[in-house]
Amino acid sequence: MSRFFSEKLKRLTPYTPGEQPKDMKYIKLNTNESPFKPSENAINCAKKATESLNLYPDPECRQLTEKIASLLGVDYDEVLVTNGSDEILNFAFIAFCDAACGAAFPDITYGFYPVFADLNGVEYTKIPLNDDFTVDISKYFNLNKTIFIANPNAPTGIALTQNEIEEILKNNPCNVVVIDEAYVDFGGQSCVPLIKKYDNLLVTQTFSKSRSMAGARLGFGVGSKEIIKDLNTVKYSTNPYNINKMTMAAGIGILEDNDYVLNNCKEIIKNREFTVKELEKLGFVLTNSKTNFVFAKHLKISGKQLYLKLKENGILVRHFDKPKISEYNRITIGTLDEMKILISTTKKILEENE
Ligand code: PMP
Repeated sequence: MSRFFSEKLKRLTPYTPGEQPKDMKYIKLNTNESPFKPSENAINCAKKATESLNLYPDPECRQLTEKIASLLGVDYDEVLVTNGSDEILNFAFIAFCDAACGAAFPDITYGFYPVFADLNGVEYTKIPLNDDFTVDISKYFNLNKTIFIANPNAPTGIALTQNEIEEILKNNPCNVVVIDEAYVDFGGQSCVPLIKKYDNLLVTQTFSKSRSMAGARLGFGVGSKEIIKDLNTVKYSTNPYNINKMTMAAGIGILEDNDYVLNNCKEIIKNREFTVKELEKLGFVLTNSKTNFVFAKHLKISGKQLYLKLKENGILVRHFDKPKISEYNRITIGTLDEMKILISTTKKILEENE
């Protein structure tokens, strides 16, 4: 830390992204990326966009925003495109939390929420999940805080229904409820249709998972025109050109290939079902994941030890050294071949451990 670092940031603990070691070639099942490349069309659109890199990108992101709005059946001014969904989540902390209105989110959830809160000097309350990692929605009623819920949740993978989210919305009429749908395309129920009914709802989604574009950094938020207007005020006060030309073009390209995306999602769901079944045969206990990852523990080997052994064997998974979840590993669903290697390697590790 330099002696110049702002007093208000000195105690900030930044977010820790999943490791990306370069010492050998790993099967990467630790950051919930897609194992599938973006479609040819998306790649070609991005390549073409490089020809005009001398010019700034469209700050309104009009063409891409229009495409997202029409795909979701909402209006153009109900959508804001951002640099990954992380950016819109940060914007939401800036826009809808202050000294009078703190934030609330589950005690086990996406690790960036407390970081955004700390960065923006926002007080927050962590609401404990039930022992089985499900969310007790009644704990979110009338909190007088801005609520952040990942649905499905991470790293547990467990989803709430649209009706349950609606209950939370009804019981917080004076506060914004942010529903982070980063993983919704793998079996969750989206709350986007509810934005027409609830002016306190902001739904965020990403191109990083189902749309195979984690490297491009593209996400978006959907909410009432007024909510989107507020978020635009934050955007135009921080980084008006938040989406670069290649990303914008690739985003349009992948939306033109929605069938490709839907097929990839089907494949991931199939591979997840295979992985769950095989891990259960090996004695693992798993949550009911509706995402592109599973969350698993074994009674005979600690979460940390399994993570280390898998790494030694060239497979990266995500282990969180945190209370309540340290016995678990979060394992991204990759191709069927990758999952078969995961299963055979895990079997070998368990046998050696006996
Ligand atoms: N929300 C959740 C729950 C996530 O796990 C992630 C990815 N790590 C994000 C949001 C952010 O994704 P991105 O910025 O790549 O859109």
